[in-house]
Amino acid sequence: MPSMAANNFSRNTQYHQAKGDFLARKQKYEQQRKNLPIAAVERRLVEEVRNNDTLIIVGETGSGKTTQLPQYLFKGGFCRDGGIIGITQPRRVAAITVAKRVAEECGVPVGQKVGYAIRFEDVTSGETKIKYMTDGLLLREALLDPYLSKYSVIIVDEAHERTIHTDVLLGLLKNVQKARSKSINGVVNTDLNNSNNGHTFEERIDNQNTGILKPCQAKKYNPLKLIIMSASLDARVFSEYFGGARAVHVQGRQFPVDIFYTHKPETDCIDAALITIFQIHLEEGPGDVLVFLTGQEEIESVERLIHERLRQLPECSRKLLTFPIFSSLPLNCLRKLLTFPIFSSLPSEKQMKVFMPSPAGYRKVILATNIAETSVTIPGIRYVVDPGLVKARTYDPKMGVDSLIIVTTSKAQALQRSGRAGRDGPGKCYRLYQESFFEKLPDSTLPEIKRCDLSNVVLQLKALGIDDVINFDFIEKPDRTAVVNSLWSLYLLGAVTEDNKLSDVGHQMARLPVDPVYSKALIVASQFGCLKEMLICVAMLSVESIFYAPREKLEESRNALKSFASPEGDHLTLLNVYHAADEFFQKNRMVNSEEKAEKNLRKWCKDNFINSRSLKHARDIHSQILRNVEQMGLRVTSCEDDMLLLRRCLAASFFLKAAMKQPDGAYRVTLSGLIVQIHPSSVLFRAKPECIIFNELVHTNHSYVRNVSRIDYLWLIELAPQLYAAQD
Ligand code: ADP
Ligand code: MG
Repeated sequence: MPSMAANNFSRNTQYHQAKGDFLARKQKYEQQRKNLPIAAVERRLVEEVRNNDTLIIVGETGSGKTTQLPQYLFKGGFCRDGGIIGITQPRRVAAITVAKRVAEECGVPVGQKVGYAIRFEDVTSGETKIKYMTDGLLLREALLDPYLSKYSVIIVDEAHERTIHTDVLLGLLKNVQKARSKSINGVVNTDLNNSNNGHTFEERIDNQNTGILKPCQAKKYNPLKLIIMSASLDARVFSEYFGGARAVHVQGRQFPVDIFYTHKPETDCIDAALITIFQIHLEEGPGDVLVFLTGQEEIESVERLIHERLRQLPECSRKLLTFPIFSSLPLNCLRKLLTFPIFSSLPSEKQMKVFMPSPAGYRKVILATNIAETSVTIPGIRYVVDPGLVKARTYDPKMGVDSLIIVTTSKAQALQRSGRAGRDGPGKCYRLYQESFFEKLPDSTLPEIKRCDLSNVVLQLKALGIDDVINFDFIEKPDRTAVVNSLWSLYLLGAVTEDNKLSDVGHQMARLPVDPVYSKALIVASQFGCLKEMLICVAMLSVESIFYAPREKLEESRNALKSFASPEGDHLTLLNVYHAADEFFQKNRMVNSEEKAEKNLRKWCKDNFINSRSLKHARDIHSQILRNVEQMGLRVTSCEDDMLLLRRCLAASFFLKAAMKQPDGAYRVTLSGLIVQIHPSSVLFRAKPECIIFNELVHTNHSYVRNVSRIDYLWLIELAPQLYAAQD
């Protein structure tokens, strides 16, 4: 039977090839790992962790801290008692990409020995020993398991970022560590495998309710090893906070980077970035380009513009190569430029693409948010384009207004950004501002806890039994006014009682993985009988820009929006989009494969000027929160066509952000008195109803509100009397 033999033979050959591939890959990873600066101090680091319950590790970005240390500790036996190693990241993208990378290095599929968990996605299993996650997620885990008993080691990574979750986590971990080490009394607990082994909040008592965990008498815990990792050289603040904890420094590897500034201030940063990208592409030697942009919207428009300009370049010209300006190009095709976006809501399979080496002769341009500053290191970068801007959370405690605005980076951030160009060899960094401007930048960024709305964190701390939030042992205390304001809005939402205790509704709200106003909206909607619709609204409101309006197709995109627009506002419009997309998808799936239906949906989105990435993200979030509310036993019913009921429910949920029209057509926010305009992207931009609720406030040259719906002021008095009845 010759054919069978041939078959067998080819299978054998394939088998050997695959094994060969596997070995080659393994060797490649081993080689790369050995070459990382941190590899030289592996043994010393493991010893340091063994000898110190709390350790601060400072090391330059790219030295291998995030990917290697957990592997060293695993090898060093820190999981032997059944405990696992948890590593927190401020950003979901870092948690995902690093977990995938480490799983590859270990030669295992992600989700087994190495896994990750982020807000709406858990890729771990009973086998997981090295778990990457967001700092916010570990905080949520503490709600279910106050002693974080399944962890033998917790690494708080990127602590220099000082996100609000990291700051709160540091305080919690300090307590957990103390309580666990007191509980043990030298007895080793063998029951650490069990993740949620049912600790109740009664186990936690505290003298002043400031979060001191009672050393548990009933259970014995292993001590918790705590490692704080930071890319900033200043370890003092962490060391002092942890009672003079030991700090060690891991040497990095950095080639020189030439810094260039503009001669004049740039008025249009996007245009300046585009010009610089092409200047590099056409005039500089090989190497990839990393461009720092402020968010998904900006990244996507720069990506479109790059491709447009590429099409205008001559296709392949040998002639051009004779010009000195083009002679440094490795190949004769000027269009050999590839773009790779990376931002947090990018689907995870796309996020990994930025790490793939560019094909021979091609130049890669990575368009990133500040994710690429320190959280992830992309190999091959020789050029950095830095407009010097970043999207940051700000909070005005006087106005009680929380918003995302674009601000200038700090000096420390600018230095981190330029450093990205010097990982593999000497590099260049183009700062799209003047040198004198750099000198004026602040040295470092204000910790997030000082500049954001605290309601979410206060709610979570209270759910953890920490009632006296003001006296909680923060690494840096938030402003008292900000705490008081957040307590006030939690009270208005019904989450805390008059005597400052968490109410039943508050407990329910804390269980939902969304902001307090949204969790309240879901609870209210289940009472109104429109939770089905509210789940969609909340999912759609949780993603960045569902619609996109490219400058060159403004008219077409406006027309596309009209087919979904509801005269009642953006919430109902978003609902229409979701329903239309879902209907299209379900119909398609009846006749096509899931994959084909997804592809057709992307095409449908494109035709309708809808951002398919955002929509996909919203659909994922929707299925997650649907599961959450079902687990909580909330009633998921639909109000069908009763949009009046849904709008009343929106008013009952979002009454904290209501505004009234003024004689001049501007709006006055009822709670703060702030004067705002309806954002031009809103369907109500022209209609200007008398009374509105909104979800988002953005500051550019004006204060704008986005995601706006028309309501009746009387509904506010009826449905939110705690705030409105007294004013009448
Ligand atoms: P640090 O945490 O010290 O900044 P990392 O451990 O994140 O350093 O990175 C170490 C090295 O691993 C870097 O050279 C980086 O380029 C590489 N690396 C990390 N993630 C990936 C990935 N997904 N694909 C390829 N290389 C990666
Ligand atoms: Mg790192």
